[in-house]
Amino acid sequence: MTDRIDRNVASGKELKGVSLGGPVSGPVSSVPMLDVGRGNGPLKQEFMAAIERVIDSGRFLHGPEVGELERTVNEVCGTAHAIGCASGSDALLLALMAIDIEPGDEVIVPSFTFFATASAVSRLGAEPVFVDIDPLTYNMDPVSLEQSITSRTRAIIPVHLFGQCAAMDKICEIANKHDLVVIEDAAQAIGAAWDDRPAGAWGQMGCLSFYPTKNLGGMGDGGMLVCQDEALASKIRLLASHGMQPRYYHKLVGINSRLDTIQAAILGVKMAHLESYAQARGAHAQRYKELFEAGRMTDIVQLPMKHPKGKHVWNQYGIRVPFGRRDALKAHLQQRGIGCEIYYPVPLHMQECFSDLGYSVGCLPHTEAAAREILHLPVYPELTEGEQDAVVEGIEAFYMSGAFRRAA
Ligand SMILES: *Cc1c(COP(=O)(O)O)cnc(C)c1O
Repeated sequence: MTDRIDRNVASGKELKGVSLGGPVSGPVSSVPMLDVGRGNGPLKQEFMAAIERVIDSGRFLHGPEVGELERTVNEVCGTAHAIGCASGSDALLLALMAIDIEPGDEVIVPSFTFFATASAVSRLGAEPVFVDIDPLTYNMDPVSLEQSITSRTRAIIPVHLFGQCAAMDKICEIANKHDLVVIEDAAQAIGAAWDDRPAGAWGQMGCLSFYPTKNLGGMGDGGMLVCQDEALASKIRLLASHGMQPRYYHKLVGINSRLDTIQAAILGVKMAHLESYAQARGAHAQRYKELFEAGRMTDIVQLPMKHPKGKHVWNQYGIRVPFGRRDALKAHLQQRGIGCEIYYPVPLHMQECFSDLGYSVGCLPHTEAAAREILHLPVYPELTEGEQDAVVEGIEAFYMSGAFRRAA
């Protein structure tokens, strides 16, 4: 993978289109949707040294690297407590367990999100209540949220989708008014902020994921919960270790969910680069905008909105492709070797496993339109300008070619 970058840099060809002084690259034959090797490659010596330290220490669980990562995550999130766990999905489950969510309870979640946001609710026998999104930010619509509150509502899980925070000021205001717990699903948004307050610091709890595609991506699974309240933090820690305290005495029926020391050591190495990764992603988003505007494409596809109140960390860059052309454009790009993906093609309220909840087509129109029209383009930090040009040219070519007319 580093091979490809070296070749591109070595060719040193002049760039077409806008140049913002990033890495120089030559003509591109294919663009991966994500290439984790490019980020990890340059850090390999540091990873190996960190892993070796853990091997030598023999402390594969509860090693000092876990506590170290928890401290740095607290700094990033502006929180007082952080608890490592096995995945972002487990973080959501533990957050709901910590507030004793049980059958009969309702938890309000967006339908336009990854499955884990809602499955954690169902796992505990409670009911996920799906609400619609703001069509511009793709995040939970506070109006739809407030309309969905009932006497059984216990909590709200706003998701900071694609790296941009939900409207946390409004959501927390509604939650306070109705005495509801807010659990932030910040799996895609470590380092993001809303009104200068970091993702994870708004709700009673915040949930992070270190899945390899996330902004702080590990080499396997990992997750973390953040919160401000000490008693809540202790309960989460207890729940994540079988509710056991002291050893072999179980206060609660918990689960086993830990962040491995090796994983924490690896993440500690990457943590030093978190902000530069977010800045590189942001620069790509800005350059996409300039390229699409220069090609007069912005009347044809809709670019993602960066809300002025937020700090966006661009975990994903999604354009809207209207008039039923999305799948044809995706096929066209893939044929040209240009990676692209749909997050998410089927809204959660339309999933087979939730069919008994009684939602039907048309219930959440903004969510359903987004699922039909969104297409995500490569935006990882190491993406080159040449590759970005190829992505934009591929989209322009679609609209100028027979592929577009055939789809029309
Ligand atoms: C990735 C993700 C999760 C789950 O994280 P895992 O670490 O993969 O379990 C939850 N919610 C959202 C929005 C995610 O993107």
